[in-house]
Amino acid sequence: MIKFREALKIILENTKVLGKEKVMITDALNKILAEDIVADRGNPPADNSGMDGFAVRYEDIKGAYEDAPKVLEIVGEAKAGGNPPKVEKGKASYIFTGGLIPEGADTVIQKELTKVEGNKVFIFKELKKGANIRRQGEDYKKGDILIKRGKKLRPSEIGILASVNKGSVYVYQSPRVCILTTGDEILDICEPIISDAQIRTSNTYSLYAQVLEAGGIPVIGGFVKDNPEDIREKLLNAKNCDVLITSGGVSMGEYDLIKDFVQEVLNVEIIFWKVAQKPGKPLVFGVWGENREKLFFGLPGNPVASMVVFENLVKPALRKMRGETKIFNPIIKAKLTKDYKRKKAERLEFVRVSVEYKDGEFLATPFDKQGSNILTGMVFANGFALIDINTYEKKEGEEVEVVIFDREFLDRKTF
Ligand code: AMP
Ligand code: MG
Repeated sequence: MIKFREALKIILENTKVLGKEKVMITDALNKILAEDIVADRGNPPADNSGMDGFAVRYEDIKGAYEDAPKVLEIVGEAKAGGNPPKVEKGKASYIFTGGLIPEGADTVIQKELTKVEGNKVFIFKELKKGANIRRQGEDYKKGDILIKRGKKLRPSEIGILASVNKGSVYVYQSPRVCILTTGDEILDICEPIISDAQIRTSNTYSLYAQVLEAGGIPVIGGFVKDNPEDIREKLLNAKNCDVLITSGGVSMGEYDLIKDFVQEVLNVEIIFWKVAQKPGKPLVFGVWGENREKLFFGLPGNPVASMVVFENLVKPALRKMRGETKIFNPIIKAKLTKDYKRKKAERLEFVRVSVEYKDGEFLATPFDKQGSNILTGMVFANGFALIDINTYEKKEGEEVEVVIFDREFLDRKTF
């Protein structure tokens, strides 16, 4: 049995970033950029006005004040998208926000500081030379790198892509993740229950949602009975995927056959089995595919174990595959609101806790029932408090590290 951190290290060492693909920018949200984005022109492309008012020559308005306005002749208008007139000595042009600065003009005076009578404009104040002009290239220059490869695309980056005329862009591919659910007792949604021995699946769909959250493409590979024929047949459904996740069938039981059959059918090379973690001890990890570029995770069937192992060991790998550099769930320090005790301390434990932010600190409350079959504990929780190997007890008020798998926990003030 290996330790959790060793398992994580091995998994990430065996995880390769996928290739690139080109997507429309309307489909690029949250994907990871696989090319540098270079400005096709400067922004702004030319000097333009930041205000509505008049484009003037500084010399002509020098010394203007309330009681002694300067009077200039209006020669035309410079509107956004239009061709500005020339402004000669003693002249002014109407100008609008975004309008190009007319040749000859060097200053924009806002409308509020002027008065118009016929074709004359009265200027009541001297402004600094160059006032209200947005300079060519002040945001960026042609050829500047605006977004670096590796950046996650948010709405701001997508706006920049559009502004440099990139309608499509190279991003890293998302891993296709086959989810295969095993167990004679497991039923899919809508299948009729005929015995108390039957269990409706939760893992299939929590895993589906977790894969989506991690930026992967979930593929339901089917439901497998615990017999060789069925396992052999349905494992083949994983062939076109980058990752195979199986649920169940990896413990010590007679019907826990997955480990053997992934080796036989998909030529998976098992790298480890069993991790000193609670829940999730029976995890199996392996690699497969022509270049050992595909991953295999045999997750335990207990619903909490399945979710916990995914969050801490599978999610970082999927994120790495899709080019992310920030691959881990964040860890915060929080104070326990009650004692937590255990009888054995040979595994790293992920205690389901609910974290809230109160009076300037994080408080973590463990769920009463910590069994790995207690799925409601995952509904209660937004984090996993880490109880290290050899730690038997944590007292109320003691600080613990908590892995946050759901950030929607902060008590938020609204406006
Ligand atoms: P296994 O890892 O196959 O030995 O299963 C361990 C426990 O998890 C058993 O009690 C199973 O009934 C339960 N279990 C297995 N698969 C699922 C599933 N897809 N959804 C909910 N519970 C499951
Ligand atoms: Mg089973």
